[in-house]
Amino acid sequence: MRISEQQDAAASGEAEKLPHNGELRFPPVNSLGYPVFDTNGNMPVPDEERLQMVQLAEVKFAELFDILRIDRNDPNATNTPRRLAKMWVMELYKGRFDPPPALTVFPNRKKVDELVISKNNTVMSVCSHHWQTISGTCTVGYLPGDKVIGLSKISRIVDWFSRRGQIQEELGEQIADYIEELIQPKALGVVIKSRHYCMIARGVTEDEDKSVMITSVMRGGLGTDFNLRNEFLKLIS
Ligand SMILES: [Zn+2]
Repeated sequence: MRISEQQDAAASGEAEKLPHNGELRFPPVNSLGYPVFDTNGNMPVPDEERLQMVQLAEVKFAELFDILRIDRNDPNATNTPRRLAKMWVMELYKGRFDPPPALTVFPNRKKVDELVISKNNTVMSVCSHHWQTISGTCTVGYLPGDKVIGLSKISRIVDWFSRRGQIQEELGEQIADYIEELIQPKALGVVIKSRHYCMIARGVTEDEDKSVMITSVMRGGLGTDFNLRNEFLKLIS
């Protein structure tokens, strides 16, 4: 491939087949020259660039309507490309573009040495594989070290990581990594229970009431101390 062809391919976002491993490689920037990153990653994007994203995505959604042979004169669908574009950029994927939530960390002055638990924080996410809803809850518990965090802030952390394309296992690990870095707890547990609509609305079409996926991350004392782990599981059940 000549260099100009490579640039064309990079500009059009096409994958380039590299000789090693026969692996597909895509360019690290998009057609506008902005860096691209994982579906569940984060790179803050200013408001004016987000509006530009909405405009560009609207055009592409309208093209998709064409491919799916949807009549754009259908009064029920007239503004839907715009609605979809706004929904993905401003709501469902906003955790990719928002800066981290403002958080206050306090010193653990009373030397609290018991589990602190924030139960059932809302998880409203989208699976990276099918772009279908993941809906559930995330419970976080920790044994404080020298720092504690306002409990209401945990729901913001969960929401920030959820509002991206996710797989549940990585969502739990991301939340745990973030809290660990923030307050260095002696023990940390993150338990997510959720329904995956890619398994309910399509594919195996599982029963909505029965299909629940549970993942847990146990760090520090919750990974090694059997009694502490039991206490945690009893408190959150
Ligand atoms: Zn899926």
